[in-house]
Amino acid sequence: MRKKIVAGNWKMNTTLQEGIGLAKDVNEALKGAEPKCEVIICVPFTHLASVNEVIDANKLGLGAENCADHKSGAYTGEISAAMVASTGAKYVILGHSERRQYYGETSETLKEKVALAFENNLTPIFCIGEVLEERENGTFFEVVKAQIADALFHLSAEDFGKIILAYEPVWAIGTGKTATDDQAEEMHAFIRGVIADKYGKEVADNTSILYGGSCKPSNAAALFAKPDVDGGLIGGAALQAESFMGIVNAF
Ligand code: PEP
Repeated sequence: MRKKIVAGNWKMNTTLQEGIGLAKDVNEALKGAEPKCEVIICVPFTHLASVNEVIDANKLGLGAENCADHKSGAYTGEISAAMVASTGAKYVILGHSERRQYYGETSETLKEKVALAFENNLTPIFCIGEVLEERENGTFFEVVKAQIADALFHLSAEDFGKIILAYEPVWAIGTGKTATDDQAEEMHAFIRGVIADKYGKEVADNTSILYGGSCKPSNAAALFAKPDVDGGLIGGAALQAESFMGIVNAF
């Protein structure tokens, strides 16, 4: 059966020293704890190798927030999937709406990134979600379906089964506006149906679909209680161990 997961996305926050401190705090909070979900932190590239040294990999997974769409070579400033994997990280967030919006990521570039993540044994946490206009004009189901189909439906069922999906309505990210638990469930159930149509019920039932968008300790339990919401991708509330653990403990 699919995994329950709470993953933090630190974005472009914390210096290296602050990040090591935050990772140590989360790691400490997990010592002796028996969370009912897997816990992952996705941190800036500069922090990966150092954070990997201070966490217990059996309790806390480590991921990057992006990787390049090329293997290696003359791409100044880029970080390859192989480089990410060489730090000890096991996950990589791909297709976050901030990457799509500010850095022009398309389904074509994301296909390359997913392939390179797999080549390097990284598990993609693949983000999808509609913008406010699409929510308001009622096209949100077709937008999300296209994001999944265009970037992922060339994959074999086996490879698709390795992906963690994160539904993040863009209008809810960092805005304090959360999708209601019913809105989240409606979309998650829709996504599971789209996967079932393509790959069959077993693959769909085994795919973890996380919710992201202003998730916090006060609303996490209601979201996670929904049958198709398998956890959360957490931005702002992942920047303090206490609020992040409040969400982890919502399961
Ligand atoms: C995110 O960026 O993935 C996110 C969900 O952010 P926030 O929790 O701050 O809305």
